Amino acid sequence: MAAPMSRFVNRIVHRKFKDYSLPAFSRHKLLYLSVLNTKKFTNVYLQVNVLPKLKPVFRGLSDQRHARKCWKCSKLTNEETDLFFCKCGVVQAVPSDLDYFEVMALPHSFDIDINNLTKLYKDLQWKLHPDKFSQKSKEEQTHAAIQSSFINKAYFTLLKPLSRGLYLLELQGNPVDEKNTSVDPEFLMEIMEINEDVIEVASKSVVLTEIENVNRSKMDACIKLISKAFKEDDILVAKEQLVKLKYYSKVDDTIKDVHRSKMG
Ligand code: ZN
Repeated sequence: MAAPMSRFVNRIVHRKFKDYSLPAFSRHKLLYLSVLNTKKFTNVYLQVNVLPKLKPVFRGLSDQRHARKCWKCSKLTNEETDLFFCKCGVVQAVPSDLDYFEVMALPHSFDIDINNLTKLYKDLQWKLHPDKFSQKSKEEQTHAAIQSSFINKAYFTLLKPLSRGLYLLELQGNPVDEKNTSVDPEFLMEIMEINEDVIEVASKSVVLTEIENVNRSKMDACIKLISKAFKEDDILVAKEQLVKLKYYSKVDDTIKDVHRSKMG
């Protein structure tokens, strides 16, 4: 089932919230709407019929959702403030049900604040640095190492628009399937020509930089269209532009390699 079901709808439909009070009828209607690919209707139905009923329960649940006990001192830890460390100072295990956006305290959106993301990432990597755990127990060292590599993955996935967009589609249950995605032949021709130009002018730095700049502006145009598509829930356009961005990004990597090979 490749319907664009948000994680939230998914959780409601599949009763992942333990003791919510939504009647079976509303749940089935929600499933029906989301399977029919009508994300806008699903959202409206959610806002009007589901959220008001869920709210008191949901609010309670969101407090409990990631409530865990500290493995060392056994006190309950708070989802937001103690996600990585308990108040007793001990590093915690990675919560298994959090996605990269949640771990980095960001909304599930294509448009994110990169400065905030980078600030949090640097802060966490500093706190979880192996040097800080050299005198600690093996268990703490292991938790810190796993946390650190998880945060790395989260950061680098969310940092670049391409991987962020692909990940967002994955979370929505609608990943880009490259084997079944046909790419416009005219676009492929364009990419082939750019690649040929890159090889041809490889020795002329100035011309190469010109090609690089033109390619970058094409990437920026894709990113703008992807952002708009996500805002409008237009998954088809989001996918189409992400695939294009992937090609332009490959060109960008090639040009960087040429620059590098000349320096080395
Ligand atoms: Zn503790």
